[in-house]
Amino acid sequence: MSTRAKPDFVLREGAAPPLDHLVPSVQTRQLGTFRVHAIQAGGQKLDGGAMFGVVPKPLWERRVPADERNRIQLGMRCLLIEHPIGLVLIDAGLGNKENEKFCDIYGVENTGQSGPTWLEDGLASLKLRPEDVAMVISSHLHFDHAGGNTTRGADGVIRPTFPNARYVMQRGELEFARHTNERTAASYFPHNFEPIAASGQLELVDGDREIVSGIHAVLTPGHTPYHQGLLIESNGELAFYLADLAPTTAHLPLPWIMGYDVEPLVTLETKRRILKRAVDEKWLVVFEHDPKTAWSRLAHDGKSYALASS
Ligand SMILES: [Zn+2]
Repeated sequence: MSTRAKPDFVLREGAAPPLDHLVPSVQTRQLGTFRVHAIQAGGQKLDGGAMFGVVPKPLWERRVPADERNRIQLGMRCLLIEHPIGLVLIDAGLGNKENEKFCDIYGVENTGQSGPTWLEDGLASLKLRPEDVAMVISSHLHFDHAGGNTTRGADGVIRPTFPNARYVMQRGELEFARHTNERTAASYFPHNFEPIAASGQLELVDGDREIVSGIHAVLTPGHTPYHQGLLIESNGELAFYLADLAPTTAHLPLPWIMGYDVEPLVTLETKRRILKRAVDEKWLVVFEHDPKTAWSRLAHDGKSYALASS
């Protein structure tokens, strides 16, 4: 784990931060009547080849530089929505439970100053505490999305990070996470979801549905069979949390699909359907792993998808 000093959380309204390196940051904007915050919950570095699947390195390297271990810099961005039921958090970063070797392999950088991780620091910068969160929604249960669902305390015991929250996830995703095979086991750790089941805070949903007013689960299979995106709607404005359907802005071209995806051809069809809706319905899409760009509207130039200029 890196021990170098990190700056305090950087708070910004709206526009993307002009950052050379990933730093803890919170960006805030209005979506209809909802105030929403993009909280950078940490950094990680994953193998560039695995991040772009069949795309040759000479192509992806033009857009995303690799380090000396062939890894690319990624963020772990959560979305916090100020909703009438209370605070709703979408995904929770990586948490504090993995060991030093793991954090070195994956370039994890998320140690907090006022709490265990950058996520708690981000909440603190908004004058909020984990106890204030009413609902946590997991896009899927991979460690870099659901690791922050639980926290290892000073006593070594692993507990839900958000003691007053209901934790919402797809029933099929939990089943998939509980029955791993040689290919999927490296991504699913029971300590990220079993303590939630044990505490009675788990709420399972099946397929597409409105979870709470204005926040809809939308199945986006491919990365995992029950991966879900979240469509947020308020006063005619729409935002969509893509999670691992298109983890960074470099993943907008349809065939730029991660090697990690268990069903890449299903991802392709899901992307075709979802990105078309994003343009047609003027969604603000949220990029979970992009180190710099939190959100954007999209455009299609007749050939491929890209960030809209405004
Ligand atoms: Zn994933």
